[in-house]
Amino acid sequence: MSSCCLGLRRSCFLLSVTAAAVLLLLLPRGQPPASPRRRPPPAGPSGTAPKREEPPAGSDVTGERGGSGAAGGGRDIAASPWTDRRSRVGPHGGSARESLELKDIFIAVKTTRKYHKSRMELLFQTWISRARGQTFIFTDWEDRELRLKAGDHMINTNCSAVHTRQALCCKMSVEYDKFLESGQKWFCHVDDDNYVNPRTLLRLLSAFSPSQDVYVGRPSLDHPIEAADHIQSDGSKTSVKFWFATGGAGFCISRGLALKMSPWASLGNFISTAERVRLPDDCTIGYIIEGLLEVKLLHSPLFHSHLENLQRLQGESVLQQVTLSYGDPENKHNVVSVGGVFGLQQDPTRFKSVHCLLYPDTIWCPNKKMS
Ligand code: UDP
Ligand code: MN
Repeated sequence: MSSCCLGLRRSCFLLSVTAAAVLLLLLPRGQPPASPRRRPPPAGPSGTAPKREEPPAGSDVTGERGGSGAAGGGRDIAASPWTDRRSRVGPHGGSARESLELKDIFIAVKTTRKYHKSRMELLFQTWISRARGQTFIFTDWEDRELRLKAGDHMINTNCSAVHTRQALCCKMSVEYDKFLESGQKWFCHVDDDNYVNPRTLLRLLSAFSPSQDVYVGRPSLDHPIEAADHIQSDGSKTSVKFWFATGGAGFCISRGLALKMSPWASLGNFISTAERVRLPDDCTIGYIIEGLLEVKLLHSPLFHSHLENLQRLQGESVLQQVTLSYGDPENKHNVVSVGGVFGLQQDPTRFKSVHCLLYPDTIWCPNKKMS
């Protein structure tokens, strides 16, 4: 083949490549990332006060099924988080899917003055050290030591330091507002006696899009609670049954859903909603989502509170969970079963042992391994 012919072919080739590039530039770009938009609320909260439901007590958890599955309802997402049509969520599609990063998650830890030392120090030493940027501490006292450690990630809610429905709802209300303000994609709430595994949390939430309606957590009861005297949009009275994720095991809400909750949850509305239905903070979240917005809770067995028998969680499976907890002093044997790192005396909650198994490069772990 002559060099002249080759030259001609080369210019034809270059010409077609340029034309293709110009065409590509002219084509419409891919979908922009879904941005959650506020929709009008389906029914106003006015007059929707259900009769008082007893707050869930420890004795109510007889239907608890431990680590093996969620309580009731048939909406267990252990195997496949997107198979439930009722919850209207699904894996968000194909290669266009944005990958979720830990920085997209807002983790709110609820605490109080008396637990800054006894509970929060352990959390800072363990899981918070691996999720500093996304963890916010909601407390009720300006503690200089905690402030030094957490900086502007410690939020003094100015709510009262008591274990009453009003005080706890006050904190939840601040958590919710701070999350909306943050612009992050997921809101997760935990208590100060929860261990959060940042990797499994990220894996769980990656299965969904934050613009979908997602409310995921673990019910502490094996049945929904019922609020009577729920007033429908046509003014007729009915009762409303709803599931709620227990706050003591932690739960997460997508930004899309959180925005829809706004009329009942933002800027102090959460406190008035909770007052009207006379429910604790976590039940009120369930009431707004299931009862008012008609979005179903996704029951996940990966979240754990000390209302369940934690000893049933053993070995490797402990490391697969999203949250863990430990029993209070009267029930101090209610801890997960992990061996081989620290003994019960050195690590009564088992959180240090779990942390060393998950992050063996941690400086204070025995036989520290460099990752
Ligand atoms: N808590 C609080 N104010 C209080 C007592 C407790 O904010 O006066 C918080 C505490 O820090 C924890 C959650 O409420 O995050 C649950 O408290 P605890 O574990 O003592 O009780 P539980 O309800 O789990 O038995
Ligand atoms: Mn607790």
